[in-house]
Amino acid sequence: MKVLSVASEVFPLIKTGGLADVAGALPLALVAQGVEMRTLLPGYPAVISALSGPSFVHTFENLFGGRAHLLAARHGALALFVLDAPHLYNRPGNIYSGADNLDWADNAERFAALSWVGAWLGRGAVAAFQPDIVHVHDWQAGLTPAYLRFGGERGAPSLITIHNIAFQGRFSPAIFPRLGLPDTAFSSECVEFYGDVSYLKAGLACSDAITTVSPSYAREIMTEAFGMGLDGLLRHRGAHLSGILNGIDTTIWDPAADEHLPHHFSQRKMSGRAACRAALESRFGLLGTGPIVTVISRLTHQKGLDLLAESLDELVSLGCRLALLGSGERTLEESLKNASLRHPGRASVVLGYDEPLAHLMQAGGDVILIPSRFEPCGLTQLCALRYGTIPVVSRVGGLNDTIIDANEAALQSGVGTGFQFTGFSRHEFIDAIRRMLEIYNNPDVWKILVRNAMKSDVSWSRSSGRYAALYQTLAA
Ligand code: ADP
Repeated sequence: MKVLSVASEVFPLIKTGGLADVAGALPLALVAQGVEMRTLLPGYPAVISALSGPSFVHTFENLFGGRAHLLAARHGALALFVLDAPHLYNRPGNIYSGADNLDWADNAERFAALSWVGAWLGRGAVAAFQPDIVHVHDWQAGLTPAYLRFGGERGAPSLITIHNIAFQGRFSPAIFPRLGLPDTAFSSECVEFYGDVSYLKAGLACSDAITTVSPSYAREIMTEAFGMGLDGLLRHRGAHLSGILNGIDTTIWDPAADEHLPHHFSQRKMSGRAACRAALESRFGLLGTGPIVTVISRLTHQKGLDLLAESLDELVSLGCRLALLGSGERTLEESLKNASLRHPGRASVVLGYDEPLAHLMQAGGDVILIPSRFEPCGLTQLCALRYGTIPVVSRVGGLNDTIIDANEAALQSGVGTGFQFTGFSRHEFIDAIRRMLEIYNNPDVWKILVRNAMKSDVSWSRSSGRYAALYQTLAA
């Protein structure tokens, strides 16, 4: 079984969020299922410079306004097609936005080009890799199923995975004539969305199947409260929509061998964890005692950290210490930073993106806080489980599917792995913190919780089997 994956970011080459982690880990996990996956991604500067000895596959004389080359390369165990289109991708900074924090003005062309080449490959244009399935990710690759449907010659069946329905790739209808789709594609059956063009909508309407990254999120996005305008279409396509949980790459996230850690540990030998905790205290300047509550997150409305900014004084007065790493919306960055300055030695905020520090926080923290308003799957809680950091989460999406609330019954049957709260209010949130503290102050029970967490299967093994089964169904 050959599968072409089309994604706008792939770890470790380029990453802004969980999509990259998934696009980078899934191909490796699928090997054991007999699936050969190749990934098409844009040739951003970071990607081009990381390739060693790419081979030339094809030249497109005019791909959305310029000349482009398709390259084939390997990076570690990943097999890649890289779209080297300097007029679209060769620019500094963030892959989606400029230094002014605004989206690149030509994002519509940049990701139409990626999608167009995805469909071209999906129709078997390259003899050396003719895919049985085209698996595309998020709005950036959302036009691929539309190009496959309207491209004349029939291509491979397509599957789209929604990593976050909040990002829809919505553009003015003025872009439509430039997409190279027939006029009939500008309809509610394809790319048209309330008079605009929506790349995600096109992918959802034209693909053969839809997945999202947890079963709970699959149910949620069919409701008005979570569907962000696409719930009607998703209900209509409900028979073709399913949720498959993300896993994490357990070789990268391995507390017994993690290259970013000063000390290693495992379920059987936990002493290195205490040493990581001490390193974390010193890195964040935390003093005294009390659980270290960590946050590793994009700072956006979705992640609900305004609730933390509001509750920080209470959190500290209850005896918690806070170590936060994140970046995002300016106002949220400021309110969290200001709140932490009121509690020197007890709360500390690092603004920025820092992969090694994220690893140390997972290894040295006691608790990780994820109060998301919605969460398609979430990866940080999976890493936390593996490292024995206890998640306190809102009961939404993948957080609901991956964390077992440590209520009385769950503790008695030895299955609790964290704390959930519902309702997204300060009251519910603090209530979960109080429940956490009660158990934290009972070290024997806390140890059981940590053991349960570390025993959780957060690998790709089950989910890669589910993807492989879905590919088989689609190919048949
Ligand atoms: P999302 O994709 O919505 O941002 P996920 O939980 O699915 O959230 O994935 C986030 C990934 O990015 C995780 O691997 C997390 O460790 C990482 N991450 C988020 N913020 C930072 C940061 N400031 N520094 C380092 N890693 C971060």
